[in-house]
Amino acid sequence: MTTLKGYWAKRSRMCGDLRREDAGSEVVLNGWVQRRRDHGGVIFIDLRDVSGLVQVVCNPEVSAAAHAAAEGVRGEYVIYCRGTVRTRPEEAVNPKLPTGEVEVIAEEVGIISQSPTPPFEIQEESGVDEALRLRYRYLDIRRPDLRQALILRSRVTGEVRDFLSSRGFLEIETPILTKSTPEGARDFVVPSRLQPGKFYALPQSPQLFKQLLMVAGLDRYYQIARCFRDEDLRADRQPEFTQIDLEMSFVEPEDVISLMDEMFSRLFLLFLEVELPTPFPRLTWREAMERYGSDRPDLRYGMEIHDYTDAFARSEFKVFRNAVENGGRVRGFKIDGLVSPPRRELDELVEEAKRLGSSGLVWMVREGEGLRSPVAKFLSREEVEALAEASGLREGEVLLLAAGGPEIGPVLAGMREYCARRFNLPCSSRFAFVWVTEFPLFDWDEEEKRYKSNHHPFTAPSPDAIDLLEERPLEVTSQSYDMVLNGVELGGGSIRIHDHAVQERVFSVLGLSREEAEDKFGFLLEALRYGPPPHGGIAYGLDRIVMLMAGRDSIRDVIAFPKTQSGSDPLTGAPDAVYPGQLRELRLRPL
Ligand code: ASP
Repeated sequence: MTTLKGYWAKRSRMCGDLRREDAGSEVVLNGWVQRRRDHGGVIFIDLRDVSGLVQVVCNPEVSAAAHAAAEGVRGEYVIYCRGTVRTRPEEAVNPKLPTGEVEVIAEEVGIISQSPTPPFEIQEESGVDEALRLRYRYLDIRRPDLRQALILRSRVTGEVRDFLSSRGFLEIETPILTKSTPEGARDFVVPSRLQPGKFYALPQSPQLFKQLLMVAGLDRYYQIARCFRDEDLRADRQPEFTQIDLEMSFVEPEDVISLMDEMFSRLFLLFLEVELPTPFPRLTWREAMERYGSDRPDLRYGMEIHDYTDAFARSEFKVFRNAVENGGRVRGFKIDGLVSPPRRELDELVEEAKRLGSSGLVWMVREGEGLRSPVAKFLSREEVEALAEASGLREGEVLLLAAGGPEIGPVLAGMREYCARRFNLPCSSRFAFVWVTEFPLFDWDEEEKRYKSNHHPFTAPSPDAIDLLEERPLEVTSQSYDMVLNGVELGGGSIRIHDHAVQERVFSVLGLSREEAEDKFGFLLEALRYGPPPHGGIAYGLDRIVMLMAGRDSIRDVIAFPKTQSGSDPLTGAPDAVYPGQLRELRLRPL
């Protein structure tokens, strides 16, 4: 092999693949120098490629030339090395390295390309500022944890493709330059040069196109789809992210759900060696809100919420009694896994509940026949007994209670999460999947004083609730489902409306006039007149799935080139200004 720089020997093996069985064989390796150590005459090089790392030994007694070349080698140089694999002496075995039983005795070493000292050390979790890592992302990706995450991501995506195509799904691309699709976020827009003053929108999801593909008779569609949402990048969001997006014809919720149970149990078995019991548990939205106060409950923990209203109906404890008299309820949960915490920790719980917006949280600890609590003095013996009985509290266990209207649900949900974290409570399993189904079709937006879709406007109402659409929209449930893992929503979908008359009624409840509906979604309404099959689907956030599987805390750790919190890319400098000429062509004025 000759390059401009001269000769280089092409690899015969990958660095990370060498094992004891390879001892004695001659190999050629190409890779990056992770580390070079000079041990009094003998130089050791840790050589890295995508498959891993192996130790190369340059001994002048074996090859003076290889040793001399190794003297000129520095970290992150790219080199080739010809040599013989040898098993390491017993005391030199490195059990932390898959190649730790062997080393390569160099007979020839050559530098292929050089590198300045990198701006940070290329090693596991080097604690380097993220902005710097993003600026030099190509170096960052050389670190094993990021590299492994990207490898995992590729394998997961490949497996999803294999699984879906084995089930008759067709992979079909949908436009990136398109018309606004409503997933509830702001669109990114792209000005049209050929039609000045008009804009494309980048898709927030391929929702409408995948429905059109069902009308087109393709039966099952999927896509590893890039989606764009111009949101403020609070928390762990990216302006562009990837969905596993799919749609199926002639299905009911159960068909989508059970297929996804199968897909996920396969992925987790294959990549994490975790056997997930199927079917995954299911909760209707109403049950989830009642028992966990949240539509994405974390079922790794017990702490199920119960209703204790009856125990306080005639209580001397005014706060609770008043709440009950005003139509509220007393609800709470036992902190499973916590026994006799110190008073200080109990008070912290009250503080946390205040932060979550609760006006009052009450704790009670079972002590002998009675209950220890700041409100114990207001409780009669009967009340204490009723509570102890209803809650099943055992010695030292803690019950948390809050009183009020529906607003206490989220507070209790927040307290479940807090308790799990704060007390490091034991999990029942490492991965707790759950489906939440039958969300309300609409929510009431108090600010805008109008109904909004809980999922999106194409979600089908439950068949038995269609008659309530106009009269009691908030009571209409939908044929929707979210998959939740460890309290994180992984994906969501629904059966869609395939009857154009129902679709028009839903638009009208949402406050869209006939003209507006026609203008925005005329193409969908029209398609729904041409023999649409019943259909439904789901979309998953691929970034989040891989993040959880890789045990990472941020989706940026599983995306090759992510954006920062302010939506910029320190590597390329995007977003950036464009030349005045480009603006003129687009008929846009500079700021
Ligand atoms: N398009 C929806 C979303 O992006 C998912 C779906 O309903 O399939 O959330």
